[in-house]
Amino acid sequence: DLVWSKLPGSERGKYLYRIARIIQEKSRELAILETLDGGKPIKESRDFDLPMVAAHFFYHAGWADKLSYAFPGRTPRPLGVAAQVIPWNFPLLMAAWKIAPALACGNTVVLKPAETTSLTALRLAEIFQEAGLPDGVVNIVTGAGATGAALVNHPGVDKVAFTGSTEVGKKIAQAVAGTGKKLTLELGGKAANILFEDAPLDQAIEGVISGIYFNQGHVCCAGSRLFVQESIYPAVLKKLRDRLATLRVGNPLDKNTDIGAINSRAQLDKIRALVQGGVDEGATLHQSACALPGRGYWFAPSYLTGVTMSHRVAQEEIFGPVLSVLTFRTPEEAIERANNTPYGLSAGVWTDKGSKIFKLVSKLRAGVVWANTYNKFDPTSPFGGYQESGFGREGGVQGLAAYCRLG
Ligand code: NAP
Ligand code: MG
Repeated sequence: DLVWSKLPGSERGKYLYRIARIIQEKSRELAILETLDGGKPIKESRDFDLPMVAAHFFYHAGWADKLSYAFPGRTPRPLGVAAQVIPWNFPLLMAAWKIAPALACGNTVVLKPAETTSLTALRLAEIFQEAGLPDGVVNIVTGAGATGAALVNHPGVDKVAFTGSTEVGKKIAQAVAGTGKKLTLELGGKAANILFEDAPLDQAIEGVISGIYFNQGHVCCAGSRLFVQESIYPAVLKKLRDRLATLRVGNPLDKNTDIGAINSRAQLDKIRALVQGGVDEGATLHQSACALPGRGYWFAPSYLTGVTMSHRVAQEEIFGPVLSVLTFRTPEEAIERANNTPYGLSAGVWTDKGSKIFKLVSKLRAGVVWANTYNKFDPTSPFGGYQESGFGREGGVQGLAAYCRLG
């Protein structure tokens, strides 16, 4: 769009600030819409998704007139039209992650939300209109996978940004190869959360619980493989079982709900099949005894013990509230096992020893490593993967680079 790319950065920034403020004003409504549409607990959409959505627009508003400082000695220019395809696990937040940096850098956008969770992206389009954003700068196109493919393959597109499964990511990489379109892929994960005997145990258990059960485990960076040092294995299992029993599963609109609904029938079927496969391969399933609502798609928070590295539940992304528990003896063994995955998005380390943190951080093949915390996000901090978790970074200065041509 010639209008948008020609605007001075300071003018683009004003629109982004206006959008961020309207999102803040409407955050209650947007949180309710997000929860109604996708099934995540209102506690999370209200206290996590919406503040982060606004933060991404504020952060990138600040960059719009400072791009030359982001890339000293270079001349950053817009790429053109960005085609963006996003998943259903953080619908509005993924839209913000994609749209805000694209606009800050002077690009225009065609975004396709996931078919099961299009509502907040459509509401966001109305917010853009309310902010006076010129027509055509952001376009939301709903539809399923074929619509996403048509968008990615369109010759008028200069940049493709995708978040979703590794399977579709590979198809998109093939479709884009040789076209000159710039590409970033944010794909699946099977993160290791590594728990050493010298860790502050109660704090670590909280991190393990939120690391896997946050957003029903529909999280690409979920800490889905827990590696426990053998000496504390019995103590950890007991704490895990006790804490699991306190989690409340139910109506996503109830502010006391910890675990909401599974996003779709297809995802529930996938979780059930993978967990059953784990049990068939010899793992033991532990589930909280909580009652599940009668109508809708639900899966009780669970963990599997007796898991070996070759089990599918230790290798494949389940994308549900299911933790695979494994053990290790030495830091070297923890590193080797943690890296034994085709993915490489995130990892967690829990220990009292700073030296151990540094050692692991330098050896773990993961784009993000959290130490004595988990699932902490900030727009200033780049996020992205290695290997089958994709490439390119979102957030921070690195995220801007994905939306600029650097002369
Ligand atoms: P997906 O198929 O990769 O979907 C992601 C997005 O891509 C959706 O908007 C989807 O459309 C669209 N899409 C599907 N096929 C496409 C194609 N050929 N070309 C372009 N776009 C296409 O993911 P999913 O089916 O929702 O979930 C499957 C698995 O992916 C999950 O179980 C999980 O393991 C993983 N996943 C990872 C993330 C992540 O954050 N990294 C997020 C979601 C899922 P529709 O959905 O509307 O059909
Ligand atoms: Mg799909």
